Amino acid sequence: MKQVVIIGGGASGLVAAIMAARNGACVTVLERMQRAGKKLLATGNGRCNLANRRLDATYYHGARAEFVEGIFAQFGLDATLAFFDSLGVSVEEEDAGKLFPSSRQASSVLDVLRYEMTQLCVTEVCDVIVHAIQSQRGRLLCVCGDGRTFEADRVLVCTGGKSSPNLGSNGGGYKLAQALGHTIVEPFPALVQVRLLAPYLNLIAGVGIEGKAEVWVDGTLEGTATGELLFAKYGISGTAILQLSRAISEHTLKGRRTELRLDLFPAQSFDALAALLEQRIAKDARKPIDFSFVGLVHKRLIPVLLLVARVQNLQRPCGDLSRDEIVRIASAMKAWAILCFGTQSWMFSQVTAGGVDVREVDPATLESKRAPGVHFAGEVLDIDGDSGGYNLQWAWASGAVAGVHAAMLD
Ligand SMILES: Cc1cc2nc3c(=O)[nH]c(=O)nc-3n(C[C@H](O)[C@H](O)[C@H](O)COP(=O)(O)OP(=O)(O)OC[C@H]3O[C@@H](n4cnc5c(N)ncnc54)[C@H](O)[C@@H]3O)c2cc1C
Repeated sequence: MKQVVIIGGGASGLVAAIMAARNGACVTVLERMQRAGKKLLATGNGRCNLANRRLDATYYHGARAEFVEGIFAQFGLDATLAFFDSLGVSVEEEDAGKLFPSSRQASSVLDVLRYEMTQLCVTEVCDVIVHAIQSQRGRLLCVCGDGRTFEADRVLVCTGGKSSPNLGSNGGGYKLAQALGHTIVEPFPALVQVRLLAPYLNLIAGVGIEGKAEVWVDGTLEGTATGELLFAKYGISGTAILQLSRAISEHTLKGRRTELRLDLFPAQSFDALAALLEQRIAKDARKPIDFSFVGLVHKRLIPVLLLVARVQNLQRPCGDLSRDEIVRIASAMKAWAILCFGTQSWMFSQVTAGGVDVREVDPATLESKRAPGVHFAGEVLDIDGDSGGYNLQWAWASGAVAGVHAAMLD
């Protein structure tokens, strides 16, 4: 019977284990944490956004993101849904095509995966860190930190990236891959909060609004997202920012001037907003300037927006505002520019950009071109997806494909 050892009991490793075992292999999963699937439990705020109805390569990134196409051709959305259906998980769709288990419980997804593994007699060994993969007499040997060794015909590296190391993935998989002769595309945090360079962040920490955000790098527009903008002492987060964080992370690490421009009124043109401000002022010209915008924008943002617009003496009646000052206030509300200072650390990032160079991996079987018999799946590869279920979809699909081929190939 074919012996398959899977390093890493995360999303990709668990599906790989099931698919390899369903295809006749004798499977062992080696997991460095006390239990498998810790990160899975944290996904989607504990609700597990497990896939997205809108699936294609444009939602993925990496030096060669089109690599995902070969994998999704073998295990696409329908296969993912059929797989989970076979385990008893039905899914429901929320906004923007996001798919969740009907239970809205990540723990239920982990439970059914582990139940299926038990049914298939997959062995799970926890608290074990694989330090090296060696070749020995035509077989592979996983050498662990505590001296234990596990022999296999095929080994799957499903070790994840460097994001949220408290949940298990600490970049150890890159060392395993490098030792086998693989190139690692420099990893950086993605889907992560952004640090901003601005003196007023303490004043607005905790304020959340809906709006549009743009990323400008050296004066060129690099990305746009609409949704929640959530200010914090360190900078900003929220759904719109997470979508843009990959570009911000990449460019700030390269030392490029990276700026966020926030539009608090995306539905209105600049001229319409300036006219609205003038109407409000005309309605009660005696109101102090800082009070005249209460009811239009979040109260705590007003003094900051007026600071950004370089408006002084805020106790003046708003009727005193010059046309130029009103234009500057409208500009602050429509294109509030803030310099980015990088991102929060690996501990806070949801996904890792970069990883094992996919040119060194067979696009059909995910087998290493450097180390025969070794396969890679999941986030350890240089593939990362947008927020919205795309990263788990990649983990399931690549895990399934690697698992099937590991069991089937001689
Ligand atoms: C807070 C949070 C929320 C998220 N929410 C979502 C979401 O809702 N939807 C979505 O699509 N994506 C989400 N993601 C991203 C998604 O969870 C990951 O992309 C996905 O889990 C990657 O799967 P993986 O199997 O490649 O790696 P992981 O799930 O990270 O698993 C890797 C496993 O390998 C183990 N390991 C590592 N090195 C070794 C070693 N040397 N020896 C033994 N074991 C080892 C680790 O302990 C870990 O258990 C979220 C991520 C985080 C952090």
